[in-house]
Amino acid sequence: MSTGTNTKLAAGTGGSVVVDSCQVCGHAELDSVLFLGYLPPVNQMRPIGQRPHEQPAYPAELLYCPQCELVQIGLVVDPEILFPPDYPYTSGTTRILHENFANLAEESAALLGLGADDLVVDIGSNDGTLLSKFQGRHRVLGIEPTDAGRLAVDKGIETITAYFSPQVGARVRASHGPARVVTAANCFAHIENVHAIVEGVIAMLGDDGVFINESHYLIPLLDTVQYDTVYHEHLRYYSLTSVRNLLEGHGLEVIHACPIPSHGGSIRVYAARRGTRPVQPSVAAILAAEAARGPMREQLRTFRDRTILSKLRLHGLLADIKARGERVIAVSAPSRASTLANYVGLDDGLIDYVVEIKGSRKIGRNLPGTLVPVVEESRMFDDQPDYALLFSWHIAGELMPKLRAKGFKGRFIVPLPDPVVVD
Ligand SMILES: [Zn+2]
Repeated sequence: MSTGTNTKLAAGTGGSVVVDSCQVCGHAELDSVLFLGYLPPVNQMRPIGQRPHEQPAYPAELLYCPQCELVQIGLVVDPEILFPPDYPYTSGTTRILHENFANLAEESAALLGLGADDLVVDIGSNDGTLLSKFQGRHRVLGIEPTDAGRLAVDKGIETITAYFSPQVGARVRASHGPARVVTAANCFAHIENVHAIVEGVIAMLGDDGVFINESHYLIPLLDTVQYDTVYHEHLRYYSLTSVRNLLEGHGLEVIHACPIPSHGGSIRVYAARRGTRPVQPSVAAILAAEAARGPMREQLRTFRDRTILSKLRLHGLLADIKARGERVIAVSAPSRASTLANYVGLDDGLIDYVVEIKGSRKIGRNLPGTLVPVVEESRMFDDQPDYALLFSWHIAGELMPKLRAKGFKGRFIVPLPDPVVVD
């Protein structure tokens, strides 16, 4: 497989590049799956009260490559725009993520028989949450371009400040020796020029090394109509079939995979140099389950239909509530809230405000592309609106009891997969 299919990079352009051939295999005939309209960058949130300024908006079209099965976004935006310096992303420290990374450390140590001298390298190591689960038992090293890496250093985790590239990979191998494990959790779908990432990983991996990546998983995304995870930070939406096609093109073999609960349904994939490690039964089982679902084109048509109906039903539900003169607010403003609000058209006439937990950097700003203000959570308990719409609907089961315990008396709206009201 060519590693130079995606020659036009958006990074450094200050703008965007249209995806006119598959990000992985270069195939030029891509199907249009769904168009969600033009979305503002999710991290550009204007201060409350500021009159709306001119602001960029990027077309959000989902594409499907029939040659390598990759579902992908149709426009790559310069990361400098998506990740502005004044909005450093720090990985959410939710219980689910902590448990997931602890599980990753346990599972990989057991499967690979990791020892105290083995080196674990995390790409996009952020604040060191993932590596903290390996720390003390193995050698650990983070690679992180943003200031979040300082938080990891404070925890005693050595961290290289760099955007990951094959050159950085070669440098790490020269300075630290071969890695037994390289992890990329929730950044493997975010970085353009995916071939350079894989080549960089291979440069670091020892002969018996294993690359473990975690990404949003296409199957639950389709089944639970998660169109709201489509935004420009997410360039690729992997199935095991498509990620295997990508890795095989670089001489890697998938040796184990498992679905995990992060972000509403993700997949963890282990890969090693072909023929170096036994392949677990999980791989054939998941590939067979994906194949048994039928042609991807049909599944994507169904997803499109369900997305459109979901939007109309949410409109219908809100129309009934508003006709009764009742009030709706929303809970939490994760990135996915921006896609949902902008695609459905949730403005400040429909949603009075969004609450975030005290200390959130989003408080005092408007939801992207709207004049819906983000305010402190305590307001909803003083105010007691009739309905609270959950933008983090994928963790509704965790959120609702918490909000009840804090004193919210109204009803909940869970907007996806099909909008429902929960008393
Ligand atoms: Zn392709």
